[in-house]
Amino acid sequence: MLEIDEQEAFADENDRASMIELQNNQEALERARQLVSAETHPEFDGSHCVVCDAKIPKARLALMKVRCVECQSRIEAGSRMYRHQ
Ligand SMILES: [Zn+2]
Repeated sequence: MLEIDEQEAFADENDRASMIELQNNQEALERARQLVSAETHPEFDGSHCVVCDAKIPKARLALMKVRCVECQSRIEAGSRMYRHQ
């Protein structure tokens, strides 16, 4: 019986691990989706970066970007380097 208990405990631990993994995957997917799809931001005025207020080049505006290259690459570099302003 002890073996079964151990297996159940192990399975439970696995479930929890896969749930965390799934959540991380969904967050990663959501982040990736935001990076490639058209962006919107409540404070976006149509031509200036929503983070630092720098003018966004027309080429980026055409891609529906709401952030300048610098701010975008900071986000793409990863959340651990991201500083909320
Ligand atoms: Zn910016």
